[in-house]
Amino acid sequence: MIITPYQTIGIIGGGQLGQMLTLAAKSMGFYVVILDPQENCCAAQVADEHIVTAYDDQKGLQLLAEKADVLTYEFENIPATALEEVMMTGYLPQGTKPLHLTQHRLREKQALAQLDIPIAPFQAVTTQAELETALQIIGYPAVLKTCFGGYDGKGQCVLYTPADVEKAQQLLPADCVLEAFIQFDYEVSIITTRSVTGEMTTFPIGLNEHRNQMLARTLVPAPCSQGIVNQVEALAQKLMEHHELIGTMAIECFIAGETVYINELAPRPHNSGHYTIEGCFVSQFEQHIRAICGWPLGDTSLRQATVMINLYGQDMPRFLQMVPELPTNAYVHCYQKGEMKVNRKMGHVTFIDTPQASAEKNAKIVYNRLGYCDSSTGGKRND
Ligand code: AMP
Repeated sequence: MIITPYQTIGIIGGGQLGQMLTLAAKSMGFYVVILDPQENCCAAQVADEHIVTAYDDQKGLQLLAEKADVLTYEFENIPATALEEVMMTGYLPQGTKPLHLTQHRLREKQALAQLDIPIAPFQAVTTQAELETALQIIGYPAVLKTCFGGYDGKGQCVLYTPADVEKAQQLLPADCVLEAFIQFDYEVSIITTRSVTGEMTTFPIGLNEHRNQMLARTLVPAPCSQGIVNQVEALAQKLMEHHELIGTMAIECFIAGETVYINELAPRPHNSGHYTIEGCFVSQFEQHIRAICGWPLGDTSLRQATVMINLYGQDMPRFLQMVPELPTNAYVHCYQKGEMKVNRKMGHVTFIDTPQASAEKNAKIVYNRLGYCDSSTGGKRND
């Protein structure tokens, strides 16, 4: 089915990803209705209509389905059963498969392993006794992660020695996976999109730097060998085509030498793909809208090298002071969230190479002034 401008897109979820999806859809001429429990959520500020209700409220979802010609979601923790009912009347081309695959870490890992996609060795664990058995197989160091709801390093702990096993008590008993700690050289992600027509694209691979397990910076292109680029692109294609996934997905990987390990999937646009807004000819958000609306996919080529820096609550006071002096190759995005809480993503800023200015150099200046220092100097926060 082709959805054209003036028709309506319904988005479940109204956070910053919903906001940027809405902005892309609006500029393409769509009417946008969002569903989110929070009255003044990010996307509500740009959407045409907002249904204020819980993500699993069947009546609210039904209303959204009646209003919308096509439905999508901006995060993975929506009860799949609630959406299955809505799909009886509404058009959700992505279906619930991407949610089913990514809502549960063990399921995700098993699906990847079945496709022979390289991942860290893992074991399912629910109790302390199972953890001890699993540690004998996986060895130290290992990472214990909850199957449900973990993100940005939440719901996980690293076990370096048997003395750390006690730390695991905070997560157990619960559905968890224990996986080998990968001594990777760096982390990358690839954003990939598959359309209802089966057409598929990948965006250039980004190098991701984390602080306190949260994404701090993405540098594109990632300094990977052509061999790594080919492997990551081939893995993305295998995954998308085998499962016939539709929409934009993010695939996070660890790179150790010439080996790729897939760490995590996200069935939606992703923070590490924000650079595409200025960095590529089509953004990850517009590409997602094109994919679910049956349009030809856009050109994902990189215009110029880019660096994206996340702005967290603690960064904002310093960043706001810097605004009058920002270089001309800096593009600011603030998500209009209320309170500037510590570790809350408030926005991001993207630097793009121009003939006059280097993205890397200017990003480094801003990064350092935010109180971070470049990883080449140890990667520690100054304050
Ligand atoms: P995740 O929530 O799985 O994305 O993990 C958050 C971060 O923890 C990752 O970006 C890595 O930096 C680190 N991490 C997670 N799993 C592993 C692992 N198996 N080996 C080494 N580092 C890991």
